[in-house]
Amino acid sequence: MKQKEIPYKIYLEESEMPKEWYNVRADMKNKPAPLLNPQTLQPMTAEELGAVFCDELVAQELNETDPYIAIPEEIRSFYKMYRPSPLVRAYCLEEKLDTPAKIYYKFEGNNTSGSHKLNSAIAQAYYAKKQGLKGVTTETGAGQWGTALSMACSYFDLDCKVYMVKVSYEQKPFRREVMRTYGASVTPSPSETTEIGRQILKEFPGTTGSLGCAISEAVETATTTEGYRYVLGSVLNQVLLHQSVIGLESKIAMDKYGIKPDMIIGCAGGGSNLGGLIAPFMGEKLRGEADYEFIAVEPASCPSLTRGRYVYDFCDTGKVCPLAKMYTLGSGFIPSANHAGGLRYHGMNPALSQMYEDGLLEARSVEQTSVFEAAEQFARVEGILPAPESSHAIRAAIDEALKCKETGEEKTILFGLTGTGYFDMVAYEKFHNGEMSDYIPTEEDLAKGFAGIPKIV
Ligand SMILES: *Cc1c(COP(=O)(O)O)cnc(C)c1O
Repeated sequence: MKQKEIPYKIYLEESEMPKEWYNVRADMKNKPAPLLNPQTLQPMTAEELGAVFCDELVAQELNETDPYIAIPEEIRSFYKMYRPSPLVRAYCLEEKLDTPAKIYYKFEGNNTSGSHKLNSAIAQAYYAKKQGLKGVTTETGAGQWGTALSMACSYFDLDCKVYMVKVSYEQKPFRREVMRTYGASVTPSPSETTEIGRQILKEFPGTTGSLGCAISEAVETATTTEGYRYVLGSVLNQVLLHQSVIGLESKIAMDKYGIKPDMIIGCAGGGSNLGGLIAPFMGEKLRGEADYEFIAVEPASCPSLTRGRYVYDFCDTGKVCPLAKMYTLGSGFIPSANHAGGLRYHGMNPALSQMYEDGLLEARSVEQTSVFEAAEQFARVEGILPAPESSHAIRAAIDEALKCKETGEEKTILFGLTGTGYFDMVAYEKFHNGEMSDYIPTEEDLAKGFAGIPKIV
């Protein structure tokens, strides 16, 4: 049979969109380790988790048996505003690189939040609404997650309180205003609105805040305000479940044209886009039906998988969240100040961590100047101005395509293009001015982070 000609973009029909998320944990032989209560060190019960998170999301977090979970109609309607997202054959990039490799990317930046985070934000807002809650709280660093959540909350008429790391609040006024446009209240963290915020301000006057501190404030507000719960944009297994829509759509589109990827590449911060993109393919690998190469790409300045430890650790610097067993650099690890490329979380999703431990997944780290080189090269030929986070995956995809050029192999490469970089132009500016440098943490730097890991056997 003659192969169908592959268009530049493959769009699915709305009727072809997935009606169920895929829960990869159901097919894992070695399940991820349970979340632990930081006081008792016993596995967190649904009841304990329910004090912080929405009930249905707790059920999803704990569900390791159902491979498919229905996507409620209301969420599917919202998805239709910006999904299905295109699967693009990077013909222009292939030509520029003069490679025999076939490169595809799944583009998740076609919505106002500019990233894949909306896929989980809308699900989390839906379950909060269904539970009859008044609102949700969260933290945001650079602002992508806060933006996605405020869009989702306005759709369901929920209140949205965002604690934004103070330095970002001041330096990224545009993200902040996008959130306020969607009705969220945005508080610079640390703030006077919480006990923990007041403590931190007293102890460190003039601090510009951190993600860990913002998480602690958001959790405190959720647990002390009636009708509120806390929501998180990455790291948790429920978030990977929602993000499986990325991989499912990719697989449907590829199957339609008889395309089978040899390798699948994603950037890894907390692991949600990577976990979602690879989910259905990993399912096939776990069930012994097919084989793929999976590559997680992280910054050399925050190398959780490539240089971290697989242990129980705190998810936040305030140490209020449950303990998770994951690849981690320690909750006290802070990437160097010159790191501009996103993906600065110290840990990694527990399911992905287990897969990495089991050798199902490869990881590599890349330096930020080479990431921005790849970003610029990509923008110039494919048109899309990529987010620095996404550009880690672009870097690895280009590297693999160049290897194919040397060996003559016609590998099929799929990577996740998670978002656009319009709010990251200060980082691009540094790169263009030659003011960007690479900092790779020394063993000594890492030892400081490891020292703060609790001793749990
Ligand atoms: C948040 C974000 C990431 C990293 O988060 P993961 O949970 O690892 O996917 C990657 N790309 C973009 C554009 C993001 O906004």
